[in-house]
Amino acid sequence: MSDMERAIAALRSATSIVFFTGAGISAESGIPTFRDKLTGLWSTHDPGKLETAKAFRENPALVWGFYLWRRNQINQAKPNAAHLAVQRLATTGRNVAVITQNIDDLHERAGSVDVAHLHGSLKSPKCFACHRTADLQPSQFDLPQHAVERDPPRCPRCNGRLRPSIIWFGEDLSTVVWKSAVATVQSCQVLVSVGTSGIVTPAAEIPQIALSSGAVVIHVNLVDVSLGTPNEFMIIGKATEALPALLSAACGI
Ligand code: NAD
Repeated sequence: MSDMERAIAALRSATSIVFFTGAGISAESGIPTFRDKLTGLWSTHDPGKLETAKAFRENPALVWGFYLWRRNQINQAKPNAAHLAVQRLATTGRNVAVITQNIDDLHERAGSVDVAHLHGSLKSPKCFACHRTADLQPSQFDLPQHAVERDPPRCPRCNGRLRPSIIWFGEDLSTVVWKSAVATVQSCQVLVSVGTSGIVTPAAEIPQIALSSGAVVIHVNLVDVSLGTPNEFMIIGKATEALPALLSAACGI
C-alpha cells in the first residue's frame, strides 16, 4: 500500500482528527513562509533576529513596521483550498481541532472554530512593559503600502510601547495554550501535519507527541518531513491540492 492509501484508510476510520499547521498552509494564500527570503526593506534581515524582544528593544520602529507589513499581507490574503477543506471536515460530525503555528487568521476566516494559536496572533497588540493587551483604534493600524519603520503606539495604561501578541524566538509559549494543545493531540486518532518544517520547538514536538500516544501522523508538505517511524505517512504535494484530494478520497468532502 502507498502512503496515500494508508493515510486514506486511517482517516476513513478516525472520529477524532487534529490538524497541525505551519506557514506552508498559508503560502499559497500569498503569505511568505518563514524560510522564504524577505523582500524590500526586510531583505537584509534575518527573521530569526528580527522576531525577538532584543530586536524590539534595540529598534522598536523597525520591528513594529515589520509587523505592520506582515499584517497588511495577511489582511490582503484569503483562505485557500486547504484551509477550506479543514473547515469542511469539521461539518461531517467528526471531532476536528486545529493547532496552528501561524499568526495569521486564515483558519478562522475559512470558518474553523476550534483553533489554537501556539505562537499567538496579530489580532491585538500587547504592552512590551506591562504585558496587558490593548485595543487599538483602526487608525493606529493604518497600514502602509510599502514596508516602513513606524514607532509603535503607546500603552493607554502605562505608556509602554505596544508589541504584537505573538511568541518571539526565545520566549515561552503560553502554558495554558500548550497544555491544552498537548491534551488535544494525546486524545486524537490521526494528526495531519500540514506545511511545517518541524524546526521551531517546542511546536515541532507535536507530531512526536501524537505518535507516542498511539495516533497516526500524516504529513502534507512539498518535501519529506517525516520522522521515519512506521505510523507516519508522507504525502508530497501542495497543501491546496494534496490536502483537499486526501480528505475528499478519505471522507467524501
Ligand atoms: P517554515 O517556514 O519553517 O516551514 C514551512 C514549511 O511549509 C516547509 O516545510 C515547506 O516545505 C512547507 N511548504 C511551503 N509551501 C508549501 C505548500 N504550498 N504546501 C505544502 N507545504 C508547503 O514554517 P513553520 O514550520 O510554520 O515554522 C516557522 C515559524 O514561522 C512558525 O513559528 C510560524 O509562527 C512563523 N510563520 C508564520 C506565518 C503565518 O502566520 N502564515 C508565516 C511565516 C512564518
